[in-house]
Amino acid sequence: MRGWTSLRPAFKPIVIYLITASLWSLFGLLSPTTPLHYKEYSLPVIAVEVGGHLSFGFLAGVFTFDPVLALVCTGESLLIDADHLASALNFPVLPRLAHSVFFALFTGVIISYALRREKRPDFRFLLVTIGGVLSHLSYDVLAGNGQFPILSPFYLGSFSFPYLSWVELEVGACLANLGVAISSTSNLQTACLWRSR
Ligand SMILES: [Zn+2]
Repeated sequence: MRGWTSLRPAFKPIVIYLITASLWSLFGLLSPTTPLHYKEYSLPVIAVEVGGHLSFGFLAGVFTFDPVLALVCTGESLLIDADHLASALNFPVLPRLAHSVFFALFTGVIISYALRREKRPDFRFLLVTIGGVLSHLSYDVLAGNGQFPILSPFYLGSFSFPYLSWVELEVGACLANLGVAISSTSNLQTACLWRSR
């Protein structure tokens, strides 16, 4: 039980992320397209997809060396697919619009401000969110569809990522999270230095 309680702070950033990813799908209304008819996915296929995104997100998340942030990264890596919402509701719009650098930056900043610490935005969440998005894209490329509207909502065309870029994307995700670990230790050291004066 105590384990769960200590992971509770991961809930708020994940919910904010889920809401922004769903809302981001509405940018598709700017550029209506013929609705994609969803392939019928079988349960095992969905389970593999979900498992893949969770593992890639978790693998990157462990580099924060913080269980809460690792959980945030894992959740974000999966939940970006909430951006299929508008097209799943049969709006004639492009899906996947949150698979974008601007989504990662915008949402990361929103979460950082929403989770202020001592009145200062906690920009660790910006890095974790970049990690979550990159690890998601990595698994998408690996699993077969590396076409992303990476500049949405400013440009809604899709860019094709080469197959092997999944490696770079996942390494990028790990490095973003490692940045969190490094900034946390250096903040701690500064705090200790101040205290020892
Ligand atoms: Zn995806």
